[in-house]
Amino acid sequence: MTIQLSGTGQRYWAPALETQSREEWDSLKLALLQKHLVHAHAGSPWYRASFDKAGVTPGSLKSLDDLARFPFIDKQTLRERQEAEPLLGDLAAVPERDVVYVSASSGSTGVPTVSPFTAQDFDAWQDFEARLFWSSGLRPHDRYCHSLNFSLFVGGPCVLGAQKLGALCIHAGTVPSERLLAILRQFQATAIWTTPSYAWYLGETAQKEGIDPRRDLAVRRIFVAGEPGGSIPETRERIESLWGAKVYDYYGLSDIFGACAGMCEERDGLHWAEDHILTEVLDPATGRPVPEGERGELVLTTLQKQARPLIRFRTGDIVSFTSEPCRCGRTSQRLLGVHGRLDDMLIIRGVNLFPSDVEAVVRQDADFSGEYRLVVERHNHLDSVTVEAERRHGVNTHPDDLAARLTRRLKAVTGVGAAVTVLDPDSLPRATHKAKRVDDRRTGLWTT
Ligand SMILES: [Zn+2]
Repeated sequence: MTIQLSGTGQRYWAPALETQSREEWDSLKLALLQKHLVHAHAGSPWYRASFDKAGVTPGSLKSLDDLARFPFIDKQTLRERQEAEPLLGDLAAVPERDVVYVSASSGSTGVPTVSPFTAQDFDAWQDFEARLFWSSGLRPHDRYCHSLNFSLFVGGPCVLGAQKLGALCIHAGTVPSERLLAILRQFQATAIWTTPSYAWYLGETAQKEGIDPRRDLAVRRIFVAGEPGGSIPETRERIESLWGAKVYDYYGLSDIFGACAGMCEERDGLHWAEDHILTEVLDPATGRPVPEGERGELVLTTLQKQARPLIRFRTGDIVSFTSEPCRCGRTSQRLLGVHGRLDDMLIIRGVNLFPSDVEAVVRQDADFSGEYRLVVERHNHLDSVTVEAERRHGVNTHPDDLAARLTRRLKAVTGVGAAVTVLDPDSLPRATHKAKRVDDRRTGLWTT
C-alpha cells in the first residue's frame, strides 16, 4: 500500500494516514496483515511448517482477532534458525540477492541475531523514521547529531530518517564525551540522539569542563532510546534542566526496526508506526491480551517487512498502550511506557518490582542526585532489596531522615519494603552507555 504524503515542506506529516479513525486503522492493518501472511507463508519454509503445525493458513485470518490462532516466535528461535542456516536462515521470505542491508543485535545475551532488509524495507523504514522525527518537531532547518553506534547496530541508520526529512545530519557515532561536546559546540547542533543515561552523563561532564549546555550549546531536542528512563518523567526533567532542552523518548528493537515509536511534541506516550508493526500486549503467563492501559508483554507482528517477516514476536518487554487520540491530532496507538524487560523484573517476596519504578521514585526527590542502584540479596531463603541512592551536593538533611523518606515513598509506590542507603555525592559510577543498576547477588548478574 502506498501512503500519500502531503505537500511541500511538510512531506512527513501525513494526516490522511496519521489522523484516521480507529476503524480505519484496523481495516488498514487487517488488509496489510492478510497480504503479509501470504508473503511469509509463500517465501519462508519455517513459517510454512510453523503454520501447518498450528493448523492455520494465511486464509485463516478473517479479522485481527484471528491472529491469536497463529504461533509465537521468540528470540531463541531466531538464534536457532540462524545457526541452522547461517546469515538469513529459513525465516527469510526473499532470496539473499534481494537483501541490501543487515543489522545485528548487540549480543548482550547470547549470539547476535541478524535482521535483513530489502531495498524496499530499508526505504520504508527511513520514511517512517522521518515521520516520527517530524512528529517530534525536527525540521529541515535543524542540525541533528546522531550519537549512536554504527557497527551493525540498527540504531545507526536511523540518522537517514532525519536526513530524508531534510535536517543537516552529523554522523558522530560513539566518540569520547569530550570529542562529542566539541562536535556539538563546533556545529551548534540543535538536536541529538543518545541514551538517557548518556545524555545525563554528557550534561554533567559538560558542566565539569566549564561548559554550560544551556548557554554554550544549541541543543534543544534530545532523542533518547534503549533504556526505560526516557519514559520516566522525572528522568526526562532532570536531563531537561541540565540541557535546557526537551527530551523525546523513542522505542526500537534490534530485530525489527531502529525506532518503532517516538514521542510527538505533546510527549504523552510514543506514537507507534502502526502501519508497519502490529502490537499485542499479553499477560506473559497466560498469553491472553490484557485490558488497554495495563502492563503486559509486547508481542509484535511486522506488516510490511519483506526480507524477514516476524509474526507474533515475543519481545520480553513489559509495556502499556493507549489507542485514545492524542492532543496533537494523531490517532496512532501510543506506547505509554516500557516498564522493563521481563528478564529484569525482580520478584521480591512475591511482589513484582521493576527497576524503572524505583528510578521514578528516586528522581522525584530533589535531595537525591538521581543516581542509584539496587542490591538484591537472599538470606535464609528470604529476598531483600537495598536501594543505594546518592545525596545531592549541598543537601544538609540528615541521611537517616533522607533514607526514611525514600523508604516510605518506595513502599507506597512499589509495594516493596526496601532498605535505603544514602551515599555521598559522586560515589556511584556514571554510565556512558546503558546503565547497570541492579546488582543481583542471588545470581551474581548485573542488569539494567
Ligand atoms: Zn501526539
